[in-house]
Amino acid sequence: MRPLCCDGGTTLKTLWRLFDGSLIESVLMRYGVPGVRASGSGRNRATLCISSQAGCGMACPFCATGQGGLQRNLSAAEIMAQVLAGARTLADGGIPGGPGRVNNIVFMGMGEPMANYRAIMTTIRTMTAPGPQGLGISARGITVSTVGLVPRINQLAGEGLPVTLAVSLHAPDDELRDELCPVNTRWNVAALLDAAHAYFVATKRRVSIEYALIRDVNDQPERAAMLADALRRDGGHGWVHVNLIPLNPTPGSKWTASRRADQKAFVAVLERRGVAVTVRDTRGREIDGACGQLAATAAAG
Ligand code: SF4
Repeated sequence: MRPLCCDGGTTLKTLWRLFDGSLIESVLMRYGVPGVRASGSGRNRATLCISSQAGCGMACPFCATGQGGLQRNLSAAEIMAQVLAGARTLADGGIPGGPGRVNNIVFMGMGEPMANYRAIMTTIRTMTAPGPQGLGISARGITVSTVGLVPRINQLAGEGLPVTLAVSLHAPDDELRDELCPVNTRWNVAALLDAAHAYFVATKRRVSIEYALIRDVNDQPERAAMLADALRRDGGHGWVHVNLIPLNPTPGSKWTASRRADQKAFVAVLERRGVAVTVRDTRGREIDGACGQLAATAAAG
């Protein structure tokens, strides 16, 4: 386990070497710490981003983790170890702002969480169980992301747990999404968004749509308009929130972040069409913040 800090110490990224040599990562981010200038704002809150697999088998070409393929699923114990270490660091005051608690857990580290469904559900049930067996974390503070495993989204909707679903969409049309997220050839944009909307209907939890802005690939104003159209359900957009993510370029990769002006124009088109949108805080950039990149760098070194 090797921690790295940035953003005035309020972001702590941990690289884990597992018993078989697999490398994974978890990131603890604290927001709203008085006196520390860091990206992000709001009240004093802490979010922990955890990994569910070593590597990832979903092969998205712009993603460092996707290039390495899947090594294996993590066990529930290996996922839980990341949660416990993050909770302990905060409780011990290991991050500026005094002792605290983890408010949000996001399955957005390495891997496709829905492809390791049983282990993530075991972890979620342990996290949400009351103490001393569990951690007493609210299910509403937990976010499960997916690049589009539709049957697992339907299964999660039936669990009766109000966790937030985050869909990594990255393109509103099948032609581009087939390229950016190859899983789209199995379940296309319409099927994925129908399942996501059904999740909202079942849980009443607003679905988060993750969209990495990639220069001259998916960041044109006409794609923003297509995105707004694709997300419309029941005549509106009240069921979703779009999270735009400035892409953190992988060294040696042709994929890079959008220009600031294109990002602003993309946001403006969505807002004009009544879509709730934010540009995600890119914490951890100065310590290799791209998904899976830290582990990839360590493996190379
Ligand atoms: S973007 Fe996500 S789903 Fe795609 S390869 Fe990377 S980790 Fe896997």
